[in-house]
Amino acid sequence: MKREIYADNAATTKLDRGAFEAMLPWLNEEYGNASQPYAFSRKPKKAIAEARAIIAGCINAEPEEIFFTSGGTESDNWAIKGSAFSDSDKKAIITSQIEHPAVLNACRRIETLGYPVAYLPVDGKGLVSISTLERFITDNTRLVSIMQANNEIGTIEPIHELAEVTHRHGALVHTDAVQAVGHIPVDVKALGVDMLSASAHKFNGPKGVGFLYIKKGTIIAPIVDGGSQERGMRAGTENVAGIVGMAVALKNNCEKLDENAAHIISLEKKLIAALDESGLDYVRNGAQYHSPGNISLSFKGADGEGLLHRLDLMGICVSTGSACDSQNTQLSHVIKAIKLEENYALGTIRVSLGKDNTEEGVKRIAEAIIRIIG
Ligand code: PLP
Repeated sequence: MKREIYADNAATTKLDRGAFEAMLPWLNEEYGNASQPYAFSRKPKKAIAEARAIIAGCINAEPEEIFFTSGGTESDNWAIKGSAFSDSDKKAIITSQIEHPAVLNACRRIETLGYPVAYLPVDGKGLVSISTLERFITDNTRLVSIMQANNEIGTIEPIHELAEVTHRHGALVHTDAVQAVGHIPVDVKALGVDMLSASAHKFNGPKGVGFLYIKKGTIIAPIVDGGSQERGMRAGTENVAGIVGMAVALKNNCEKLDENAAHIISLEKKLIAALDESGLDYVRNGAQYHSPGNISLSFKGADGEGLLHRLDLMGICVSTGSACDSQNTQLSHVIKAIKLEENYALGTIRVSLGKDNTEEGVKRIAEAIIRIIG
């Protein structure tokens, strides 16, 4: 069956045309290894430096604070394990119960090595409260890692306020901004974070490339050992095409941030209005302030997994739980953490709209859901 409507943009996005074109020379004639000293490597080296500056400019960082990685998962692992392994006297880590598995499983790994980890509960909207953090943080806390925007329900966390509390206790702040960068304004200075993870394929860049912002002066250990790339902090031959494509995609998205968000939010409203009008018994999960287009819906008495497959047969791509984990069909840890009633929880799907979605497409998604459940 032909895929007709793609509404899983929180899982991945379509590659930006300009990014695709900008990548081509680095995959063809300009294939030099950026770390070699001869003239053939000058162009890729320069392209990486330019990409670093563009990306830094998009999040109000300095170019030397951007470290390229293979994506969000690696960036998250680096922030957590790199903080833990950095020879600090402080050992404890704090995160939340609704983080992406890239953070949660990295935390579970370091727990097995003797680092204490606290997983903060959230409220019914998925928000981490300042008072909860204040209850858990101690002078032994090395790192607080809380995501900027949740991938399943879209909730945007109060990172600036959480960072203030964290810094008062002398700990580092990391935020997984994989669902935020390229979608909402992200300013590392205004957020007050020490580290921030991003992934290109979530903002119309290529897959398999991302970055970790590390504020100047932050002490963290490298976790990928090898050559001296990325100033000795992240070894491995640079993914020149990926890095260039990521920079172009981010620049293009950031230049149209407001326009894209306005379009996507107007589509969101149309979908919700159509569902409300149908009289279906459902709840929308997440906070009022959420990443644009992330619509988590729980239908009473429905089977989310079944709904996904019926929609698939109708050519519509949505998702149930965590975007990167289609094998895991159990109730998602995020839906569990917000304590949704079970008769709604099991009927959860996530529709995630992007800049390429249309009014006609959203109308058809609503009609399909109503036909299946109604
Ligand atoms: N963090 C969040 C919030 C995500 O949504 C994802 C992917 O869905 C990741 C991390 C992992 O990113 P990547 O796919 O680049 O490894």
